[in-house]
Amino acid sequence: AHEIRNPLAGIKGAANLIESPATPADMRRGSLAIIHKEIRRLNRLLTNLLDFARPRAPEFHAVDPGQLIDGIIGLAGHSAGQKGVTLRKDVAAGVPRVQGDPEQLKQVLLNLTINAIQAMDKRGEVVLAARRKDASLLLSVRDQGPGIPEEDLDKIFNPFFTTKDAGTGLGLSVVHQIVTRHGGSVSVLRNSGGGMTFEVSIPLEHGSPK
Ligand code: ADP
Repeated sequence: AHEIRNPLAGIKGAANLIESPATPADMRRGSLAIIHKEIRRLNRLLTNLLDFARPRAPEFHAVDPGQLIDGIIGLAGHSAGQKGVTLRKDVAAGVPRVQGDPEQLKQVLLNLTINAIQAMDKRGEVVLAARRKDASLLLSVRDQGPGIPEEDLDKIFNPFFTTKDAGTGLGLSVVHQIVTRHGGSVSVLRNSGGGMTFEVSIPLEHGSPK
């Protein structure tokens, strides 16, 4: 409720300003910008909330990890570049295709990549990697941000836990849910040189759906 009421309050305040004849033109434009921003935020919240509350059962197809990563770089590379962050692909030769839902795996990798880019407080790179480990595919996203404080580590997968002003706290909940439905797991590792690595393990072949 809080997540919805805050943007609504912002929209209401901005609408009041626009309505008042005493409001100067530049303040009106600023108010319109606020309305657009808050609408985008509500939209994002709703998408995440629906993904989380009504998850679709995965439809399994053969997914190529290299193509998956290319798709994410295509989606997020531009906004990363604006922050001086390079997205680098690191896919070991001969990594096999994995059985998974293409849209959902994209969502997983995108959420992790957006978090990684947002965490970067200076220029540098975010590495999107794929490799095989035994009968699983490991997909990882490594950043060079400040990392996650020890006391937050057991909360980050909780719905609505966020440390960001405009966060929804649903990104990692959705990641966890999708990965679990693929019979996989997510782990969080602290990099020796700073920053975090989120690693997702998905079985290459899925068993009968749960
Ligand atoms: P949101 O991004 O909306 O806050 P998430 O569920 O994706 O929601 O993330 C929850 C919290 O986990 C973030 O607010 C942030 O504090 C922390 N977090 C996630 N990924 C990273 C990261 N790569 N580096 C540092 N903190 C992170």
